[in-house]
Amino acid sequence: MDAEIIAIGSELLLGVTIDTNSAYIARQLAAAGVNVYRKTVVGDNTERITAAIREALGRADLVICTGGLGPTLDDVTREAVAAAFDRPLEFHQALLDQIAARFAAMNRPMSESNRRQAYVPAGARIIPNPRGTAPAFLIEDERGTVIVLPGVPSEMRYLFETEVIPYLRNERGITTVILVRTLHAVGLGESVIGERIADLMQQANPTVGISAKRARYELRIGARAESHAEAEALITQTEAIIRERLGPYLLGEEELPVVVAQLLRQRKLTLALYEGMIQAPVLQALLAAPDIAAQLRGVEIHPLDRPADEQAASDLAAAGASAVADRWQSDLGLGVQPATFPNEQGFTAVAFALITPTGERRLTRPFDLRSSEGREFAGTAALDLLRRYLAEESE
Ligand code: AMP
Ligand code: MG
Repeated sequence: MDAEIIAIGSELLLGVTIDTNSAYIARQLAAAGVNVYRKTVVGDNTERITAAIREALGRADLVICTGGLGPTLDDVTREAVAAAFDRPLEFHQALLDQIAARFAAMNRPMSESNRRQAYVPAGARIIPNPRGTAPAFLIEDERGTVIVLPGVPSEMRYLFETEVIPYLRNERGITTVILVRTLHAVGLGESVIGERIADLMQQANPTVGISAKRARYELRIGARAESHAEAEALITQTEAIIRERLGPYLLGEEELPVVVAQLLRQRKLTLALYEGMIQAPVLQALLAAPDIAAQLRGVEIHPLDRPADEQAASDLAAAGASAVADRWQSDLGLGVQPATFPNEQGFTAVAFALITPTGERRLTRPFDLRSSEGREFAGTAALDLLRRYLAEESE
């Protein structure tokens, strides 16, 4: 079954409200194994909504609309759906009674405009909405089925879970399960990872996708199967292949800062940081781990006060790292120090040094420190240096 989603509301087109409903519906449909090939966002305009629904019905078997069911005149989804099906709107006294009862329960007067919410297209199946005044509905003809849900996200989700999912299972015979597992990788470029798993990225089931964020990579394995267990098994198989191909660069389901914090805790090691950049990128990165406080003894932020070339930066990083480890009596000291001047391409050599009870490790790599993203890359590199030390130590 193919589905399309239509999000309705001028505020969505203006960028005032972010269309979170479509993303939610898309995730739910994916999990149910329903293909979504297109999403549309359309303003509160009857003709354009009608056209969008007709077009979607020309391509898909199921169209899910959200928004535009409110009581005010700018909410025209009811009218538009009726027009798309060439049917009139019908008044339902029972709906008006429910809406009136809801207002009575809230001890508020019902306004005349709420009468509009008691109309649905002729022949539509009404989906009662206990969370709000706008009833949802389902309407179909030989072209397909349109389900119209309210725009208020909490009401829409409630109705999706309690009405749409059971409808898909009971009336449309949907049994498919789609599971997605997200793995994190770090330390290899996106193109290198892409090459190593190119064949996996072409396969249809499970699918493998990759996206990059601050030199950290997210690999998503999505499997479709007839049962949860079967989908899990497919994912686990593919994960094993990825693990074999990426080796130590593949972290697992946790992100880098969380992995580093876990390793520190497991090994009962404490850490101090020396940050040669005012933005303290290593600290910033580490703070993403919720429980790092127990392992982090201290941080010194000390922007460079004299010119340093690459070699000098490396020495300063190492000296800083051992000074902070001394001062706070931590097991490990991690220092980061950029050199003073960028090269012609705007990249600055950044030196990293890790002081451990048994020695030191150094690394120097160029980053574009003019952007916050470039600094985040540097933070990632520092944490990865630490992670690899900790991972080797625990083997
Ligand atoms: P409506 O059903 O159009 O009256 O919308 C009711 C409320 O839900 C308004 O505050 C909208 O901004 C919000 N809303 C409508 N559509 C969406 C959507 N697609 N995503 C998130 N919020 C929405
Ligand atoms: Mg609206």
